[in-house]
Amino acid sequence: MTQAASSALADKLKSIIRDVPDFPKPGIIFKDITPLLADHAAFSELVKAFADHYRAAGVTKVLGIEARGFLLAAPIALALGAGLVPVRKKGKLPYKRVSATYSLEYGTDTLEMHEDAVKAGEKVLVVDDVLATGGTAAAVCEMVDKLGAKVAGVAMLIELEFLKGRSRLGSREVHSLIKY
Ligand code: AMP
Repeated sequence: MTQAASSALADKLKSIIRDVPDFPKPGIIFKDITPLLADHAAFSELVKAFADHYRAAGVTKVLGIEARGFLLAAPIALALGAGLVPVRKKGKLPYKRVSATYSLEYGTDTLEMHEDAVKAGEKVLVVDDVLATGGTAAAVCEMVDKLGAKVAGVAMLIELEFLKGRSRLGSREVHSLIKY
């Protein structure tokens, strides 16, 4: 995609995403993507933009991070001809799991995936709606490493650049469509 086309797409997507101040707590501006999911033209354009970016990367599995990541990862996986893997909050997955614990502002959180969801050597794309501090995505990438697979990229619809989430991801490839 040309620079002009990607900046036009970013502007279009920005105009549809809704800012909800003070949700879920005071001081947070929540980026609500539900209007975007409800807009067929915009939703298909964003899926195509990610699929085009990763088409040559040999991705075999797309990991969606609970819960909004699922909604983006599923159509991207289908567009790339790859499988879909849900990464869930602790206690939701029924089979044998690997887990990663990461720190939040207060306390910790744990994400899990099935231990057989990606095989050693697979190329994995990690997908979520928002890259904020990067703690969530970094934890998911660690799980992929633990399973001996390779993170081909980290695809984020929105990147909150002022929170410097990219720095938590070291040398991993990170692609976001919209930056604030
Ligand atoms: P982080 O681990 O700080 O990068 O946070 C990323 C996770 O929190 C993602 O799963 C996002 O969906 C969610 N998140 C963080 N900040 C926001 C925000 N301003 N609006 C919507 N979701 C957010």
